[in-house]
Amino acid sequence: MSNLIKGKKHDWETVIGLEIHAQVKSNSKLFSSSSTTFGSKPNSQVSLVDAAMPGMLPVINKYCIEQAIKTGIGLNAKINNYSIFDRKNYFYADLPQGYQISQYKHPIVGEGKVTIDFKDGSSKDIRIVRLHLEQDAGKSLHDQNPTKTYVDLNRSGVALMEIVSEPDIRNADEAGLYINKIRSILMYLDTCDGNMQEGSLRADVNISVRKPGDDYGTRCEIKNLNSIKFIKQAINYEVKRQIEVLEEGGVIEQNTLLFNTSTGKTRPMRSKEEAHDYRYFPDPDLLPLVIGQSEIENLKNEIPELPDDRKKRYINEYNLSNYDASVLTSDKSVSDFFDSVIKVDSRLKKSSKIVVNWITSELFSLLNENDLEINNSPITPENLGKLVKLIIDDVISGKIAKDVLLEMFKTKKDPDKIIEDKGLKQVTDTSLIETIVDDVIDENHKMVDQYLLGKDKLLGFFVGQAMKKSKGKANPKILNEILKEKLSKKN
Ligand code: ADP
Ligand code: MG
Repeated sequence: MSNLIKGKKHDWETVIGLEIHAQVKSNSKLFSSSSTTFGSKPNSQVSLVDAAMPGMLPVINKYCIEQAIKTGIGLNAKINNYSIFDRKNYFYADLPQGYQISQYKHPIVGEGKVTIDFKDGSSKDIRIVRLHLEQDAGKSLHDQNPTKTYVDLNRSGVALMEIVSEPDIRNADEAGLYINKIRSILMYLDTCDGNMQEGSLRADVNISVRKPGDDYGTRCEIKNLNSIKFIKQAINYEVKRQIEVLEEGGVIEQNTLLFNTSTGKTRPMRSKEEAHDYRYFPDPDLLPLVIGQSEIENLKNEIPELPDDRKKRYINEYNLSNYDASVLTSDKSVSDFFDSVIKVDSRLKKSSKIVVNWITSELFSLLNENDLEINNSPITPENLGKLVKLIIDDVISGKIAKDVLLEMFKTKKDPDKIIEDKGLKQVTDTSLIETIVDDVIDENHKMVDQYLLGKDKLLGFFVGQAMKKSKGKANPKILNEILKEKLSKKN
């Protein structure tokens, strides 16, 4: 697939790098013991440290450090045995310390990589520059009072992991696949809940364009996007804007932008001249963070099976395509569901592709229509496994199975019970099918003549008629065989 975009004058290539902020899944904050529960009453989870009272000392939360190291391992990255916490100084109402404790020159995690998978079966590696730990700021609430701004410090001091990519991403789709993959790795590791709506995962998107073969162009950074849909929209808008500016002979100014989700447009927040000078320096309240190799090895042993390993296992064990396996494994709950379905019967392993289809097309569309996640599916993996078994054993046809699935969805009933109650079992009794076929032939003499004169297409018509008579229950394979045989004898 070519990544080039046709402008009016030239072809252009897009260059994108992402800075992802992932909230560490932890009950308490990075340097205090306050709770991190989302949606609590404003300012109910604020310790003296989080409110930056004079003389308070930050105490590092070991659990958050371990979560960052695990994430680093999941990103195939180098874990640094030595890292430093710096003060990043700026003034803002929701930052009572007057600085954010972050990591600058010596982050806890260094270079790594993640792989994204495309529909055509190909893959691509996106390099990670670093992952560092930092405190989140509080929240300014502008919509509570017409003349006042309120500050909620519940979020102040919550641990964030900032994951910075190299500018290896070349279009909006790749950006979507990349953030999806990061989210999936974090959720398998259980180091971040991945909830983008609540802001547990959000991204700053850096974008530039260049003529193929040129050096990187000047970039703009779109701040704080919290959905994959908005990330893609923002990229597509911004790329078009930059190409237009350049083709009209203008220059791109290195700006920080905001994306307006209602208009779908970006607008400047500040220019490079207004860029902050953060005056980073090591926080004198915190010693360098030294992590022994044995601690890292211990954490490595706690790492569960990650999406890429699971994907490989699916390809080897179940013979699935790279893309099918990546779709299944990208969401841990979908993948766990698939694992449970396959376990229902040893013969399902050979029909794994059918299992995948029943999950990703039939079940997903029912879930989507009803706004449900797979975790809340009224159809259990056990029952879906039973249904697929009924199909491969030719007890019911695929067509009838769709009706049964819908009934299972509505009633949570076992498929065997539904088939029994409604008498949906496939008819495999050959004498019964023969009678039906004889009737169809008797009732359609003219058509039979035409068929015998060479109009082969009419076979489909006879099959349809016979199916109708059997109320969709005739075994299609047996029906076809009998029909062909009887028709040939008419000759
Ligand atoms: P800063 O520290 O000023 O934010 P970095 O060099 O750390 O700058 O880069 C931040 C992000 O911007 C990284 O994800 C990087 O991949 C991306 N980036 C750097 N240069 C470009 C560019 N020319 N076009 C698009 N993205 C870029
Ligand atoms: Mg930046």
